[in-house]
Parts: sequence; structure tokens; C-alpha cells
Amino acid sequence: MGSLDMNYNESSYPCRDFKPLDPEELRKQAHQMVDFIADYYKNIESYPVLSQVQPGYLRTRFPQTAPYRPESLETIFSDVAKDIIPGMTHWLSPNFFAFFPATVSTAGFLGEMLSTSFNSVGFNWLASPAATELEMVVMDWLANMLKLPKSFMFSGTGGGVIQSTTSESILVTLIAARDRVVSEVGMENMQKIVVNGSDQTHSMFTKSSKLAGINPCNIRSVPTSRETGFSLCPLMLRRVVKADVAGGLIPLYLCTNVGTTSTTAVDPLEQLANVANDYGMWVHVDAAYGGSACICPEFRQYLNGVERVDSFSLSPHKWLLSYLDCCCLWVKQPGLLVKALSTNPEYLKNKPSESDSVVDYKDWQVGTGRKFQSLRLWLVLRSYGIANLQNHIRSDVRMAKMFEGFVKSDPRFEIVTPRRFALVCFRLNPSTLSSNSEIIESLNRNLLDWINSTGQACLSHTKVSGLYMLRFAVGATLTEECHVVAAWKLITNGAEELLKTIV
Ligand SMILES: *Cc1c(COP(=O)(O)O)cnc(C)c1O
Repeated sequence: MGSLDMNYNESSYPCRDFKPLDPEELRKQAHQMVDFIADYYKNIESYPVLSQVQPGYLRTRFPQTAPYRPESLETIFSDVAKDIIPGMTHWLSPNFFAFFPATVSTAGFLGEMLSTSFNSVGFNWLASPAATELEMVVMDWLANMLKLPKSFMFSGTGGGVIQSTTSESILVTLIAARDRVVSEVGMENMQKIVVNGSDQTHSMFTKSSKLAGINPCNIRSVPTSRETGFSLCPLMLRRVVKADVAGGLIPLYLCTNVGTTSTTAVDPLEQLANVANDYGMWVHVDAAYGGSACICPEFRQYLNGVERVDSFSLSPHKWLLSYLDCCCLWVKQPGLLVKALSTNPEYLKNKPSESDSVVDYKDWQVGTGRKFQSLRLWLVLRSYGIANLQNHIRSDVRMAKMFEGFVKSDPRFEIVTPRRFALVCFRLNPSTLSSNSEIIESLNRNLLDWINSTGQACLSHTKVSGLYMLRFAVGATLTEECHVVAAWKLITNGAEELLKTIV
């Protein structure tokens, strides 16, 4: 490795025929890349699911500076195989059952390719009319599939937008709600604003609330219990809100869940909306994972009451075959988002925007520039149709049910919380052992480590109300029944090994 100066030679570099986007070169190299990716997917089971590398493993393998001279694609590919893949936790492995698996598909991949190829920076309508209008079409399509009321659709009085993450969806709706209330009560009362979620609401709610300037002392986390399946109790919410109002505070926002991250608990939307409506609060539904299932009639009941809320979000990157990142947000009053987030610098002024006849998505999100995000979802919806998307959800649920059956049939194990979607929360709890919760927790921690260290499957855990449990989430696109069967066998092998050491 020479220094930059030593390599510099006017006559040989820079090369005069350097063309970073030569169509024929792109064709050749992109084909090679597609082959590389297809081979990766084909061989994905040959890698340990959870990466086994140690922190800092990569620093010592690569030079400290970028290369001065170009390197060949072949060399780069070989480094990916040698240095990158071993450092990957393979989320797309059929043996990945941790967190919520990230579902992907060929159509999603093609949509991503096309979206990337245009590199349209559609901050407003004029910057990319097709990007804006396709997003509006796709958001209405998906709203229809979910049987959301017209009040959330462009064909009605609302509308939808694709955000990157749930966190951003919560942040922008919080800011819209905040500005509406501040315009009524005055900036001097900002510190009195209170937001509510349950103790099962995703941790990003606290973060988004802080970003929105909510006083950290006024972020409520209403307790839930095992008896109510960890869903938010409307009576409990009313009690908390009532006490805040009595204390001179101003309830602003309620974040409800359809499918909590720990255990996929579902909050009773209708009754919670009743409470929130009494106090003029903005109600958001975070259905990041569970929302996708609601395209199937048998799950749609979980959205009962959605007509009473103000905003709703779900992330197709979690369960609807779309690559990261893709979070769909619908709002009843887009005008409130725009009022809170619009900007109007001279360099973006244009006739369509001024005529108020178009949607400028920059006013619905945090950033300005945005990708042509809807292409991915559009390809998924068109290539598979509603029928196959429903099949996909049902097949995951069927496999999760099968796993649940395995757990129930083994007296050494127990189901900890009821399964609602394709996540099974369970733990090892043999009757031969004392029911001391610390012992059970450490046994299950050891079991999880044992499973993940084999590299043959990957699970994750959670702890709710002091109950430590393992999470088995079916959803990786490549998972088939045989993988679920093999994972259960692995889990029981691990349990036997561990129990042997105890007695
Ligand atoms: C995954 C998840 C989130 C976090 O989503 P991001 O898009 O990563 O911000 C939020 N809420 C729920 C219920 C989730 O499952």
C-alpha cells in the first residue's frame, strides 16, 4: 500500500475514459451481481444464521485507506465472500426466527432495482409526477386491501405516504398533533402536553416523543398485565388521562398497537378510541408487523374501530414481501401534516404546487429528497395479487401454529402468551425444576445461547412483566415446514443437554 502521493502520476491517472455509468458495462456487471445474489440465496443455509464474528473483526482485515487505483469486480466479490458474508446475521435464512423476520420477494427486489435505477428525487410532484402519483395509487390500493375507511384514502378525504420507518410515522403525526394543540393552547403550554402508550408500546415511541419536544416527564407508559394478554386496558387509560387532566396537563396523543413487538398483543382500538376521543387526543395505530395480516378477512377484526383513529401505520418490510425500508402511513387529515411540515423555499417553487392541485410528499415527511418508493410495493401487489399475499400470510401462520403444537405437546415446555399471528412466545419450564423465576430465566437464557451458537437456527427473546421467554417468529420468505421441524428438534436437543447438566 503506497501513499496517495507516491501513486499519483499525471499521465496515467486519472484515466481519460472513466465512465461511471456506461450502459454496456452496467449490463455486464449487474448480471454478474444478480448471479452472485442468486447464489447467495441458494446457498444461504450453509452459513451460521447468527454471525459468529467478534466485535472489530473487520477493521484488521481491510486496509486503512480506500484504494487509489480501481479494483476489479472479481476482487471485490471475493472479499464479499471472504470478509462480509461471515460477518452477516442472515436475516433471509429459512432458519431465521428472531425478532420479526424481514420478508422479501423477487417482485420486491425487481421493484427496488427499478426504483434505484431512476434515482428520482421526488420531493414534490413536479420533480417526479409518476413517483408521487403511483405512491398515491398504491397507498389507496393497500388501504382498500385492509378495508380502511374512505377517510384514509385519496379517493376519500385522507391519504397515505411511504415513510422509511415506524419511528418517522409516529414522529410526523406527533408533530402534526402537537402543532394543532399548540395553536389552541399557546406555545407557553407546550410543557403541559402529555402523550400515552402502553408499557408494550415500542421504545421508539419515547424517542419520537422526545424528538417532538414532549417533556420527558409527560410520556406515559400505561401498565398492562398477563391477564389481559398485555393489551392496553381502556379503563386504565381513562384513569391515567383523567388524573393528568386533573393535574392541569393536556393529553395529546395515544399510540395503540396491533401486534406489539414483544408478544404481538393487540389493543382494543374501538374502546381506546372512545376514551381518547373524549379528551380530543390524536390516536395512532402502530401495526408495524400485525397490520399486514389484516389483508386476510380472518384477521381484519383487529382493525375494528380504525375508523375512529387519526392515523395508522404498517411496515410491508416486516411481513408483506417488501425489502427494507418501507413503512406505510395513512392519515385522515393530510392538511395537518402539511401545515406542520411544509417548507417553501424559492428554489422549489413551481406552478403545480402553487395551484394546490398536487401532493408534494416533502411536506409529509422529515427529509426533502425521497426515492421512488412505491415501485417496490406496486410490483409486489401486481406480481402476486391479493390472493397470493393472503396465501403468504396464511402459510406463515400455519407454520407458527404447527410450532405451537410442538411446544404444547412437550410437557417440559409452555406457551407463555397466546399466539395471534406467526409469533410463538414460549419457554422451557419443566415441572421437575422448582418454579423459581430466576432459575427458569437462566435456564432459558442458556437455551437461547445454546441454540444460537449452533448457527443452525436463530431465535430471540423478550421479558414482559418479569417473564423471560423465547420468541419464535415464522416469516423469513424461504422458510418451509421442514425448517420449523428441524428448529424444534434443535430446541429440544438443546433442552435435553441443559437439563442433563442440572440433574
Ligand atoms: C418493528 C416495530 C417498530 C419499529 O419500527 P421501525 O420501522 O424500525 O421504526 C415499531 N413498532 C412495532 C410494533 C414494531 O413491531
